[in-house]
Order: sequence, then C-alpha cells, then structure tokens
Amino acid sequence: MIRINDIVDRVMEYNPGANVDIIERAYVYSARVHLGQMRLSGEPYLSHPLEVAGILSEMKLDEESIAAGLLHDVIEDTKATPEEIEDFFGFEIKHIVSGVTKLSKLPFSSSEARQAESIRKMLLAMADDIRVILIKLADRLHNMKTLQFHKENKRRAIAKETMDIYAPISARLGIYWIKNELEDMSFRYLQPDEYERIDRMINKDIAEREKYIKEVKSYIKKKMDDSGLVSEVLGRHKHISSIHQKMVQQNLSFEEVYDIIAFRIILETIPKCYEALGLVHSLWKPIAKKFKDYIGVPKANMYQSLHTTVVGPYGERIEIQIRTREMDQVAKSGIAAHWGYKEGKRMDNQASEKFAWIQNLVENQAEFLDPQEFLENVRIDLFPDEVYVFTPQGEIKSLPKGATPVDFAYMIHSEVGNQCTGAKVNGRMVPLKYEMQTGNIVEIITSKGSHPSKDWLNFVKTVKARSRIRQWIKIQEKKRSLSLGREMCEKTFRKHKLNFNALVKTEEMREVVSHFGFKTVDDLIASVGYGKTTPVQIARRLALKTETLDADESLFNKLVSRVRKKKPTVGVVVKGVDDMLVKFGKCCQPVPGDVITGYITRGYGVTIHRTNCVNALKMSPERRIDVEWSLETRESYPVKIRINSLDRVGLLADMAATISKNNANILSLNTQTKDDLTVDSILTLGIVSTVHLEKVLLDLKKIKYVQSVQRLG
Ligand code: MN
Repeated sequence: MIRINDIVDRVMEYNPGANVDIIERAYVYSARVHLGQMRLSGEPYLSHPLEVAGILSEMKLDEESIAAGLLHDVIEDTKATPEEIEDFFGFEIKHIVSGVTKLSKLPFSSSEARQAESIRKMLLAMADDIRVILIKLADRLHNMKTLQFHKENKRRAIAKETMDIYAPISARLGIYWIKNELEDMSFRYLQPDEYERIDRMINKDIAEREKYIKEVKSYIKKKMDDSGLVSEVLGRHKHISSIHQKMVQQNLSFEEVYDIIAFRIILETIPKCYEALGLVHSLWKPIAKKFKDYIGVPKANMYQSLHTTVVGPYGERIEIQIRTREMDQVAKSGIAAHWGYKEGKRMDNQASEKFAWIQNLVENQAEFLDPQEFLENVRIDLFPDEVYVFTPQGEIKSLPKGATPVDFAYMIHSEVGNQCTGAKVNGRMVPLKYEMQTGNIVEIITSKGSHPSKDWLNFVKTVKARSRIRQWIKIQEKKRSLSLGREMCEKTFRKHKLNFNALVKTEEMREVVSHFGFKTVDDLIASVGYGKTTPVQIARRLALKTETLDADESLFNKLVSRVRKKKPTVGVVVKGVDDMLVKFGKCCQPVPGDVITGYITRGYGVTIHRTNCVNALKMSPERRIDVEWSLETRESYPVKIRINSLDRVGLLADMAATISKNNANILSLNTQTKDDLTVDSILTLGIVSTVHLEKVLLDLKKIKYVQSVQRLG
C-alpha cells in the first residue's frame, strides 16, 4: 500500500510550490470518516483512496486533484456531506468530489437509453471539470486491480463496462498507460482463456526475449551515442490486449505477430528526433507503409511521436517510437500534461481548444432526442476515427473520418443536403468531396431547386447522407419513369390510331391495371418506364377487353411483331428500359467514349447529348435520364470537325488519305479558301469512339501546313 508521505514527496518533486497541507488534511479527514470500513480484499478502506491519489500523482495532477482523489468516496460511502467538504476544503474540491459521486451512481451496463444518459452525464462532468473524469479513471484503474475479490458475474459486468467506456475515454484523453492497463485487465476477465494463452506464450521464451531486448537496446543506444545524440532507449513487450487485437484484426496466430516488442527512443529536441529517425533507417531497412509522423501531424488528443517499423538484425520486424521527453510525458498523461499547475488552474489554450469538442457536444446534446442516436454519436466520439467540425454558429458536429461537406449538410438537415451546391471550409470554397478535418468551420451553400447528384454516393461516408441521396434518386426515377412510360404508351397507341390519354380513364384500363398487379394507372405507366411492362402488353390486354381493338387484332399483331424484330439498341442503353427510341443530339454529336446524358423529349423518346453540351445544360433536370454506351456497339457516328491550314497543292488529298488510313469515312466535306490563303475545312466523319476520333485528329494535325484541328459541337 502506498503511503501518504510517498504521494506528498512525489507532488513536491514535480510541483515544488504545491500546497501540500490540503493533501495532508484530506488524508486525515478521509482516514477518519472511512474508519472501520473494509474493502472486499480485507484491507482497510483507506487503501483505496490512497491508491487513487497515488495514481493521480503519477499523472502529475495539481494538489486539489490529489486531495479530491483522497476524498472521492466520502460523500457516497460515509456520513460526510458536501457542505462539510466545502467548509473544510473549499468550493472547488467539494465540486470535484460531488462530480465524482454523481458519476459513480450512473448505470452503464443497463439498457441503451440509460447508458446513453450515463454517458451524457459523464461528458457533462468532463466539460464541467476534466479533473472529475481523471479521478474517475484513477478510481476505475484501482478497482480493476482489485477485481478478483468480486463474484464472477459482477467481475464480467465491470470489465465490460471498463472496456466499453473507460478505456476509450482514456484513449480519447490521450492517457495511454491507463487505457492499456484497463484494456489488459478487462480482457483478462472477459476472455480469461485467451488471456492466459497469450500470457503463457509471451513468457515461454521470456529469458531469450529479454536478452534480445537488451541487445537491441544497447545497440541503438551505442549508435545514438556515436552520432552525438543524447538519448534514452526503452524496450518493452506490447500489452496482451493489443497483441490480441492484432491477432483478431489481422487474423494472425501469435507466432505471426512479429512486433510484440516495441522500442522507444527519447531525445531532447524535435530536430534530434528526425536525426535519430534517419539514423535508425540507415541501420535497418524501414517498412515504407509503417512510417507515421505524428510530430508533423499530431493526433487529435495531442499525441506526438514518430513511429517506424524496420527489419531488425535477425530479419524480424521491430517497431520503434521516437519522441522528445515532453512528448513522452504527453503520451503518458494525455490531457493531464496540459493541466497546468504551472500556469494556474486552467488548461493551457492549446489543450482547451483541442478539447472544446467535449464542451460543444454537451451543449448540443439537446439535439439528440433519440437516446440511441446520441449513444451512437458519443460512441463514435470515443473512438479516434472521427472528425469534429463546426457550423458557422460554432456548433460542433462529429462525423466519421473522411466525411465530406455533403455528409455535414445532411447531418444538419435533409433539405440542406438535398439543396447543397457548394461548401466553404474556414471561409474558402472547397469541392463537395473535400475530406473535412477536425476543427474545420464548415458552411454549406444551398440553392433552391438544386438537387442531389448520383456521384455523391461515390464519396459520402455517413449512412444518413447515403440513404437520403438514394431516396431522392428513387423518387426522381419514379417521376422519370412515369413520364417516359407515358411517352412510350402514347407513341405505341398513336401508331395504332388510339388515344392513350383517353383510354387511361376508362373502366377497361382499370381492369388492365389490376391485371398487371398494380394499384393505380400511374404505377402501371411507371412500370413501362422502368421497362418491366411494355406498351404493347398493355394495348394487347386492353384489346381483349374492348371491341374496337378486337377488330384490329391482325393489324395489331403486325405492329407487335415489327416492334419485336427491331434491334433493341443503337449503341446506347437507357437504364431500366430496353426498347427505347434513342436519338443523338445534332448539336454535340456524341460518340462512344464521350460522357453522355439522356433527355426525355416529348414524342421522340430519349435524345442523347454529351454531358457538357450547351443545349443539354439548358434542359430541365426532371427530364434527365441516365444512359450509357452499350459495350457491343461497333457502329460509326457522325462527328463534325474543323481543320485550319495554309493552302497548298495536295492538301485535300493528304487529308482524305489520312482519314481513310484511319478507317474513318468522310460523310461530308466543305472547304473554303480565304483571301489570306488559309483554308477552312469543315468535315463530318464516321467515327467509332473517342479513342478513334483522337487518333484521327492527331494524325490530321501532323499533315504539313495544318495549323489546327478541332472537334465541333
Ligand atoms: Mn472509489
């Protein structure tokens, strides 16, 4: 058991000006009120607050934290009252102790809703005074160390809660040593067999491995010394739970987890760190993908270090971390390292900025009416694959790493997402697929009448954005299918001298609708647009129902067979429809390879334009339909080109030869010789694809005296 004098000595060491009197008084008070109480281990209860205070002193916290650590259980477990604590120790210590007391009553292992509520309160406490959480973590750490005195089911419940909530919080706060210990101890109770197995394997050739660690350590140290780098070199086994995680995640056996030993080199300055890195890389071959520069780009929780994995002296992999002493302290204490007893009571600015998300999350928790949604948000928060960005009003939003302004827009509101046309990050315009970074201030630009794009599905990261975009596309597709289906029906019926729109309203049509299994005429017509029903099928069914069509049966059959024989495509596939009338825009003359869009035109089926065609851009987006080139097409398509050249004998012959050498036909040709002796030629060529076209244009450019060649439209 740690003694109060050890704790006081330690505090004096890192904080010589500390008011140790308050620590000593807290100790005496705690000893008095806990007197006669026992831990399950049989030790006097006081051992627990003492150990907790000891852990807090390892985190180098201020004297108020240490005193509050000594007092953390007195309100809950003894006759002490908050008023008394305030009288004896002041408002701040009472405030912290009350905070810890409230937290210890939270049920974490219960239903989702109550768990969400508990985490919410935890965050509230964190935002109120981060020291409350630090004490809670120290408390949990000591409780985990004495977990063996509990009954089996209680042990498991506490271990699970630790794994789910306390370990991730420690990681988020950057206190890795607590995170690792909590994970290891939880793992031991949650999967005892697996824990034992890995532990046994680590210990199997422990002597040999210790020798190896010593050897590598002194080798690195010697090389550092030789280069004049003042350093401390450490080597250790990785934690059992992290070895286990690696085995599970990468599906490896224990023998396959190479880097179970990690080395650390601690240096004086940042430039020396990079110097040491260079030295390490010159000694052993680095594994390229394994290098991470967290000095240049610190983690969100302020962790800084260089990580590299190299192929060691026996061909084994060695993980090496390189950092300054200060960074090492931050890695040990996380946020606590910035909890300035040096600079007064508050966190330094850098730290409070980094942890502003806690405050913001709490302030905005009212938004999450659904506990499940809140829990989901917080859970993601506690894991590092997250970015935190702000609205221009300063509200925080947490999104998965790699999320884009479109995700952000949908998070604000579905309508904002649907009408989003652009985004500004920190006041600068960015593309919609920009990957947001923590701390970005994101402003969404919307415009009425604008709508989501199918391309967004290629980069959005959140479920919400994805499902809303899909939903919108579905509705649009239905609208389009309805319009396209009506077009197709009108056309077929017109050929047959029937008025589709008049027939739609008849009793007979209603029967046709139910025959095909639809509820409304619109559903039936839309199914024509989707390509599930053909206009001919409808007409046929209608013919069985009406006298007029009966008389025309033979004519009708002819029509049907003609339609069937017609080639189904002309090189373009209209999505969801098979026999669709397709025309190509004369304005832009698309050829296979061009990016194309279809537009439903009244009475003419679908017209294909190049996506960047000026005319296409003018058309109403509701009539737009997705189309693509069919792969089998080998037809040629007309493309208009212009050739500018100086006049010379044989020019035209050379052009014609070049074109025919490339297997392209000249469909039309028009040349004009100007006064300045330049020739302006407009040709229409039969072209198979964009690749074909580019080759023809390139070869034409090579002809003597040709100045420019361009595609028109
Ligand atoms: Mn406790």
